[in-house]
Amino acid sequence: MPTAIILGSGTSNGVPMAGFRYSRDYLANPKNHRTRAALLLEGPAGNVLVDCPPELRLQLTREEIYSLESVIITHTHADHVMGMDDLRSFCILQRSDMPVLTLEEHQAAIRRIYPYAFPPKPEGIEVPQFDFVPFADHVRMGGMELDLFVVMHGSMPVIGLRSGGFAYVTDVSYIPPEAEAKLQGLDTLVLDAVRLKPHPNHFNLEQALAKIEEFRPKKTYLTHLSHDYDHDKTNATLPPGVELAYDGLRIDF
Ligand SMILES: [Zn+2]
Repeated sequence: MPTAIILGSGTSNGVPMAGFRYSRDYLANPKNHRTRAALLLEGPAGNVLVDCPPELRLQLTREEIYSLESVIITHTHADHVMGMDDLRSFCILQRSDMPVLTLEEHQAAIRRIYPYAFPPKPEGIEVPQFDFVPFADHVRMGGMELDLFVVMHGSMPVIGLRSGGFAYVTDVSYIPPEAEAKLQGLDTLVLDAVRLKPHPNHFNLEQALAKIEEFRPKKTYLTHLSHDYDHDKTNATLPPGVELAYDGLRIDF
């Protein structure tokens, strides 16, 4: 059975946010410590990584991930791509380029940030090598069938995915009808709910809960979370079947 691991459940600042003073009570709960948003899908034939936040090395070592078959980059905001250099060790250990699936409009930003990860490969220096895989509505990765779709994050397109009864939709402020069609009849949905106040580029809690009412997945975990949320206190107020995600959460699907 494939497993989804929430590598990071935090918004772009991470939680705790640098420079911000928190109460001792808040920091005492490990579930209030959120690295930036990423997901790992452990399939029967390999691991698929979704996004590369700045804490990627720490996330992958924490979860004891020893191989990566391919990487999906949902979009190129800093909190989703600034860990891509850490893919270097997998390129070295697996002696191969890393397949990176993203939308065509996101490829240029990745080439600009990581020019050394594309040919020509320098002699005698260890660098990551990325090999772009074109976006498709349906792909097979890690022995899993993945349906990919596009949602909007402000004006930026973002990749969402579904495999079996599991779906992951991070960084979203609008779900087009084609994507909504892929989010029906789910066992588990992981959905962006960045904070309590409205946000121009993300669902806030109220908007996420309204979508959950519409799609009615059996279980929903909210992710890309700011420090507005105190894990246990918030969970006590959420409707049945809805909980906050946390770093290290594992979901079989
Ligand atoms: Zn974003």
